[in-house]
Amino acid sequence: MNESEQEIIGAINELLKQGLLHGRGGNMSARGSNGTFVITPSQKDYSQLTVDDFVTMDMEGNVVKGDKNPSVEVPLHTEIYRRRGDVMSIFHTHTTYVTVLAVTHTPLPVLIDEVTVRLGGEVEVCRYGMTGTEELAKNAADSLGNKNAVLLANHGCITVGRSVAEALENAVLLEDSAKVYVLSKIFGKPEPLPEETLNLQKELFASLQG
Ligand SMILES: [Zn+2]
Repeated sequence: MNESEQEIIGAINELLKQGLLHGRGGNMSARGSNGTFVITPSQKDYSQLTVDDFVTMDMEGNVVKGDKNPSVEVPLHTEIYRRRGDVMSIFHTHTTYVTVLAVTHTPLPVLIDEVTVRLGGEVEVCRYGMTGTEELAKNAADSLGNKNAVLLANHGCITVGRSVAEALENAVLLEDSAKVYVLSKIFGKPEPLPEETLNLQKELFASLQG
């Protein structure tokens, strides 16, 4: 019981340990059975989170179970779950280097293998939408497409996965890759991977997703 909630708490503790989560920002969810998903509550200190704080929602954004207010970003989660049947978990974070790219509207280019193999290629910045709006949800899902990550203009990012563990791994990978990109721009000129490598990696991503 409460397996998804436990898994998300484990993932949050990992993000806290790595210094990738501060205070109350961001939100995480996992798809459940019968067209529902569980999501972290609004404005809760992550270090104090328990399974009873989670809210179960349906895909129209109605509360099915729970007495806390769900995260304001529920529309982001419902929109992505509705469009992407393969997505079982969604993480929304405001990690530092990701946010540097988001506020400068800079897509993350493919400089290392994993960005294509795990995230699906260059990570786009979606058009700006205000926090909690349907507009942001639609813009984010449009730019996410079939990939596993998207940057939210002037805000942060979304990563998705076929499990909570995968959505977490992708969040950590995205932040690490953004860090490498930002630092490499300061240090020198980041060079793209060769075209043929990119093509092979795209095929690998497609086969892993399939
Ligand atoms: Zn946010």
